[in-house]
Amino acid sequence: MKVGVLAVQGAFAEMAAYWRAQGAETFEIRQLADLERDIDQLALPGGESTVQGKLLHDLGLFEPLKERIQRGMPVFAVCAGLILLAEKVEDDGGRTGVRPSQWFGVLPVTVRRNAYGRQLGSFRTVGTFYGKPDVPMTFIRAPSITTVSPEAEVLSTFNGEPTAVRWRNITACTWHPELNT
Ligand code: GLN
Repeated sequence: MKVGVLAVQGAFAEMAAYWRAQGAETFEIRQLADLERDIDQLALPGGESTVQGKLLHDLGLFEPLKERIQRGMPVFAVCAGLILLAEKVEDDGGRTGVRPSQWFGVLPVTVRRNAYGRQLGSFRTVGTFYGKPDVPMTFIRAPSITTVSPEAEVLSTFNGEPTAVRWRNITACTWHPELNT
C-alpha cells in the first residue's frame, strides 16, 4: 500500500514511520507534483491546523486534495488533520462557526480546538480503539469532538466523548496513534 503523507507542517515524520511500521510504502506530499503518484491512502498528520490550512492554499494543494477526498480517497487524519476535515469547528472559547474557509469541511463532526485547556493541554491515557482495550492514547493540545453525525462510527472515547471516528472514506483521531509505534 502506498501512503501519501501530507508534509507541509507538523508531525509528518512520525506519521510516515507509523505507516511504514505497518508495512506500507510512504512518500511525502509537499507540492502539486506529488499528487501525480498513486496514492492508496492519504495521511494528514498532527501539527497546527491554521498553518497547515494556509500552506495548503499557498502551495496549490488545497483544491486537488479536497476533490480527491470528496471522490473517496481513503484518509487517515490525526488531531490537526481532523480539524482540517471537520465540517464545524469551535474555537477554544466555545464560539461556534469559526471554521476558516481554508479548511476542507467534509467530515460531519463538530470539533472544539484545544479543548483540554492550557493546563491539561497534553496528557496520556489508555482506552479502547477499534474494540481493542488498553491502547495508549496521547493527546497533544487536542481538539474534542462535540457532535458526530449518526452516520459516523465512533472508534474510541475519553470521558464519554468520541475521540476517533470513521465516516465513509475517512478515519480521524483527536489523539496520536502514530506515537504508539
Ligand atoms: N491544537 C492544534 C490545532 O488546533 C492541534 C494539535 C495537534 O495536532 N496535536 O491545530
